Amino acid sequence: MSRYINESDPKIVAEQALEWVMKETLSADDITTLSSETLDAFYHHVNPGFLEYRKSVTSGGSYAAIEWRANGPNTLLDIHGNEYLDCLGGYGIFSVGHRNPVVLAAVEMQLKKQPLHSQELLDPLRALLAKVLAKITPGDLKYSFFGNSGTESIEAALKLAKAYQSPHGKFSFIATHGAFHGKSLGSLSATAKPAFREPFMPLLPGFHHVEFGDIAAMKQQVKQCQQNGEGIAAIILEPIQGEGGVIIPPDSYLPEVRALCDDIGALLILDEVQTGMGRTGKMFACEHYHVQPDILCLAKALGGGVMPISATVATEKVFSVLFDNPFIHTTTFGGNPLACAAALATIHVLLSEKLPEKAAINGTFLLNGLKKISAKYPNLIVAVRGMGLLQAIEFNKNETGYAFASEMFREKILVAGTLNNAKSVRIEPPLTITKQQCEHVLSVVEKVLAKLA
Ligand SMILES: *Cc1c(COP(=O)(O)O)cnc(C)c1O
Repeated sequence: MSRYINESDPKIVAEQALEWVMKETLSADDITTLSSETLDAFYHHVNPGFLEYRKSVTSGGSYAAIEWRANGPNTLLDIHGNEYLDCLGGYGIFSVGHRNPVVLAAVEMQLKKQPLHSQELLDPLRALLAKVLAKITPGDLKYSFFGNSGTESIEAALKLAKAYQSPHGKFSFIATHGAFHGKSLGSLSATAKPAFREPFMPLLPGFHHVEFGDIAAMKQQVKQCQQNGEGIAAIILEPIQGEGGVIIPPDSYLPEVRALCDDIGALLILDEVQTGMGRTGKMFACEHYHVQPDILCLAKALGGGVMPISATVATEKVFSVLFDNPFIHTTTFGGNPLACAAALATIHVLLSEKLPEKAAINGTFLLNGLKKISAKYPNLIVAVRGMGLLQAIEFNKNETGYAFASEMFREKILVAGTLNNAKSVRIEPPLTITKQQCEHVLSVVEKVLAKLA
């Protein structure tokens, strides 16, 4: 392959890039070229800031590791052939493992027949996925709108809540500190991290944030709104905050928020983009608390780590605001046949392999192990917490969190900080992780902590 850093003809650059796609393996020369090409193009055409950021968790700090392929269900390979145990799971997208064969087979077959829908004829897989979601989601959640990302599922939820509540004169939303709901302008209005919000102010009007897990603070905010004549359209929450640092609320919190919503006629939107699809040891985290939302948001693991897809599932009462004119909220690629095939296969795998139950069992094993080890390092570690296979170690300061992630990377285990809380390093492997792999993680954590101390 002639090498293309200085290549000016875009047709040739595209051609050479396609050669990488078509290659199964890399020669030593390929490795050098692909490294320098990737770094150069990231620097000049993606965002040089990313390279600086990734440096902090790559060995030697010299240059970023470059991924090449998924290997086993729970491991991946970089271009040098290093194998990493994935304890990050793409922030929760690889729940059924990398390249799950059932998901791949469904997507490959659908790819041969019809990858994307005509937009005019009725697409069967969208209908069947909506039906399956109605059956696996709690209570009377019944209708689904499909998009392509978590943030889109939140946009749809906010718009549904607005459309439903505006005739009742209710326009405000309550969200929580530390919340992460995505970064498009609507969902960002509910997200709580100052650094993500400040450059884009003002965001949507009528959003209030209160302490997560504190029902009294929530009631206080409701009272304040009522005193100002502000009706609450909806309360939006993650049942367990993911990017906030894996924050688990008191057991009574979700049921109390549900009761408060019912009291004041507000809708409850639960963002299970990260906690859904078995991650916490039940299919949906709200099932731990026996709470049913009016609107449930799903994405990340829904596409089985193969296709992007999101769903906004609502009760008939709420969703019916879209019945008269289904075109008031649409998106071209949402619910496409490839994505729906992936999601149907994913749900089938989750149910038939009992992955939520496995997440509960291996999650408890891993969490207990982490708690035991971390108890020896009270100067480094503030807390270890989690539910199922959504776990975090909270360090005394950001620097320790970075150093830990970086040392784990050197030991070929992928972990990373949470977006809203750099002190907390998340452990979020595929739900297919084995007990032996959990044992390996524990022994490496023990080694790394000893080194850091
Ligand atoms: C990741 C995440 C989102 C945003 O999803 P994207 O696909 O990145 O837009 C929203 N909510 C929660 C809880 C998430 O973890």
